[in-house]
Amino acid sequence: MAEVSKEPDLMEQVTNLCKRRGFIFPSAEIYGGFRSTYDYGPLGVLMLRNVKEAWWRSMVQLREEVVGIDAAILSSPKIWEASGHLESFSDPLVDCRNCHERWRADKIEGVCPSCGSRDLTEARPFNLMFKTHVGPVENEGTVAYLRPETAQGMFVNFSNVMTTTRKKPPFGIAQMGKSFRNEITPQGYVFRTREFEQMEMEYFVPPDEGQRWFEYWCEERLAWYVDLGIPREKLRLRHHSPEELSHYSAGTADVEFAFPWGWDELEGIANRTDYDLNAHSKASGVRLDYFDQATGERYTPHVIEPAAGATRAMMAFLLAAYDEDEVGGEKRTVLRLDERLAPYKVAVLPLSKKEPLLQLAHSVLAQLQPLVMCEYDDTQSIGRRYRRQDEIGTPLCVTVDFQSLEDNAVTIRDRDTTEQVRVPIAELDQAVQQRVCQ
Ligand code: ATP
Repeated sequence: MAEVSKEPDLMEQVTNLCKRRGFIFPSAEIYGGFRSTYDYGPLGVLMLRNVKEAWWRSMVQLREEVVGIDAAILSSPKIWEASGHLESFSDPLVDCRNCHERWRADKIEGVCPSCGSRDLTEARPFNLMFKTHVGPVENEGTVAYLRPETAQGMFVNFSNVMTTTRKKPPFGIAQMGKSFRNEITPQGYVFRTREFEQMEMEYFVPPDEGQRWFEYWCEERLAWYVDLGIPREKLRLRHHSPEELSHYSAGTADVEFAFPWGWDELEGIANRTDYDLNAHSKASGVRLDYFDQATGERYTPHVIEPAAGATRAMMAFLLAAYDEDEVGGEKRTVLRLDERLAPYKVAVLPLSKKEPLLQLAHSVLAQLQPLVMCEYDDTQSIGRRYRRQDEIGTPLCVTVDFQSLEDNAVTIRDRDTTEQVRVPIAELDQAVQQRVCQ
């Protein structure tokens, strides 16, 4: 087991910071909150976008054989019937006969976590899909579901995408967006919520290449988290045992992170064989296969699926980045976020609120805003402003001082080393880009 936390209360420190600084708020807080749902605040929305942008960049932008889609969230029951979700997308639910709490049987080992009683009901399947009605009439014919995963959008659009893009296996379809699951026990802050964001890719390959691509994607996906700053020793790849595998899977591995409560899943990578395309083909009567004109061969591609959670990944990045150190004899909290993930890349800080310093500071801000996400702050002492930026992970502070009025230069301070360098305003764009635009 890796060293799971730098401090036993890491979780509390990170959740406090998220609330205090505007990353994540409990939803409907003025009404006392709403059932483990969360709202992403001014910093959270930026960071979550950055997580998704980093994923999109590595999975779509930098790959010639992968394209993206954005499918509907409200979806036809036919999709979920064919995929097997209507019948079996369920968790085993038990009631505690003593305190009447409900639990996921597979997560509690026969003991009620609330009151310690072993007097539990038999487990029964509880379907996790949110059901709703489309249009003004509520009857069986108007039922729709909020998607519980983004993956099916890729399977049902397989032919649309293949013909419009003229792709041939191996090729991938990627999608990120909201998914909904009526989880029995949401837990671990944004680790498990009923509304969350996923980042999934379906990679269609010739049937005999499934195993090779499965191994390839396991390594690629693990490397993505390392590249974005999670230490390798806080990550592991856990292969599912044959008993654990879903019936359609020829191999599944989870990328796990050392959360404060222990190893837990960040992402699942599965070799789903031809299960999904066959199921939708059978149910819709539409052929979902590939005809190779060069060889005259027709086959149903196998699918490798790396399925990640954006909100869950954001939480892992925050936990891994949280640090405390000492600067000038004072304790400071610092989020050592990779600059690609940091909400703001630069904070522009005038040393004083006096004119003409403010005017110069605003013109420096206006110069940098088209390049990167910037914050501007002219309140409190400069030391406190640096601490505030350290705490939200801003990699660079640009300080405009009285000297700047004379020499047309500003100071750039580095979050991690706290080192400061003087840079002419005319060269600021380049200096900032070099440091924070990879
Ligand atoms: P679990 O076993 O934790 O319920 P799962 O194996 O059912 O998850 P998948 O269906 O493989 O999860 O979903 C892919 C990814 O989507 C997960 O690895 C996770 O990052 C994310 N995810 C799934 N359910 C939730 C949720 N309720 N809240 C936040 N993220 C989730």
